[in-house]
Amino acid sequence: MKQRVGVIGGGQLAWMMGAEARSLGLELWLQTPNANDPAVSQADHVILADVQDVTATGKLAEHCDVVTFENEFVDLDALGKLVGKGASFRPTLDFLAPLLDKYDQRLCCERFDIPVPRYQTWSLGDRLPEGWQYPVVLKARRHGYDGKGTFVLKDQAALAALPSALAGTALLLEEFIPFERELAVMVARNLSGEIRVFPVVETQQIDQVCHWAIAPAAISKTVAEKVTNIARHLAQNLGLVGIMGIELFLTAAGEVLVNEIAPRTHNSGHFSLDACQTSQFAMQLQAIAELPLGNPKLLTAGAVMVNLLGFEHSDSDYIHRRQLLIQFPNSRVHWYGKSGASPGRKLGHVTVLSETSNPEQLTAIAKHIERLWYPQSDA
Ligand code: ADP
Repeated sequence: MKQRVGVIGGGQLAWMMGAEARSLGLELWLQTPNANDPAVSQADHVILADVQDVTATGKLAEHCDVVTFENEFVDLDALGKLVGKGASFRPTLDFLAPLLDKYDQRLCCERFDIPVPRYQTWSLGDRLPEGWQYPVVLKARRHGYDGKGTFVLKDQAALAALPSALAGTALLLEEFIPFERELAVMVARNLSGEIRVFPVVETQQIDQVCHWAIAPAAISKTVAEKVTNIARHLAQNLGLVGIMGIELFLTAAGEVLVNEIAPRTHNSGHFSLDACQTSQFAMQLQAIAELPLGNPKLLTAGAVMVNLLGFEHSDSDYIHRRQLLIQFPNSRVHWYGKSGASPGRKLGHVTVLSETSNPEQLTAIAKHIERLWYPQSDA
C-alpha cells in the first residue's frame, strides 16, 4: 500500500509538493477550505475544511501515516490532543513550539548561541526604550508573512503613525540591521538525524516582500560555511524532521544574523524545483516519509527565481505575460492557478537556469523577468 501523506493547507507550497509526492509514489491527502485552491488538483483526496478546523485534521490524521504543514499558523494545544489519539505530525509539535512566535524564535537562537538582531517585546504606546535609536523594526510576533505585520520605523513620527489596530497585538521591537545582503538557506533532516543543506541563496526584498532569489549567493566560503553551520545546528538542536527555511542578514563586516526561521518549505527554496537534483518539496517528503534523502546540489552554475506578484485586482490569468516569460531562454514558469489576483499576491514564479553564477548577470536576468511581468519597468 502507498504511504499516505496529509498536508494541512492547499496553497502553492502544497501544490508544488503534490507533483513531487506523485513522483515519489506517495498518496497525498489535503485539508484545505476551497475546492479551487491550487493544490486540490494535485491531491488524491481532499478534506474540504478550514486549516484551523482541528476535527478535520483529526480525520486527516486517521487517513494518513504522517501529517505535515503548509504554514505555521497552527493551534498547538488542539493538535496536541490528536497526538494522544495516534496522529503523527512531522515536523513534531515540540519542534514547532518555539518557532511560531518571532520573539520565541529569537530566544531559541540565543539559546543555541546563534546571533540575532537586538530585540525586546513591545506594545503599541510604549516609548522607544532607553539606549535604542531609530531606525527600528517593529514586528507582530505571530501570523506575519510577506512583510505583513513588519514595520520599519525611521523616526518618532513613524512610530506615532502606527495603525491603532496594532493595540493588543503582541509585538517585537528590533534593531534595524543595515545589512549588505539578505541570505536564505533550506535545511532538511530525517528521523535518523541525516541532514541535507541546500545551496545558500541571496534574496532581494522590496518593501519587505521577496521579489527574487539568486542561487548560489555570491558570498565567501567562510560566510557560506557560517550559514550552513547555523542551518545544521538549528536542525539538529531543534529536532527537525522535515524541512525548514532560515532567512539571514549578512553585514558588511561579514557577520551573519538569523532573521527568521520558517518551519516548512519556503519561497527562497523554490529555485530547487528546477535547479537542484532534489527539490525542497521532494526533500520534505523524503524526510517525513522515511525515504532516502536526495541530493540538494545545484545542477547549473546559477539560477534565478523571480516571484510573479499581483499588481492589480483582477481575475485575469495573465496568459500573454506568461507566454512572454515562457519564451525567455532557460525559463520555467510555475503558475499557481489561484482564483483572483491582488497587489502583492504570489501568483506564480519563474526560474531561469544560467550557465554563469555571476551575480550581476543573474540580477540582470531577474530585472528582465520583472520587466516582462510588471506593467511598469520600475516595479
Ligand atoms: P515576514 O515574516 O513578513 O517575512 P520579516 O521579519 O522576515 O517578515 O521581515 C521582512 C523583511 O523586512 C526582511 O526580509 C527584511 O528585508 C526586512 N527586515 C526585517 N527585520 C529587519 C531588521 N531587523 N533590520 C533590517 N531589515 C529588516
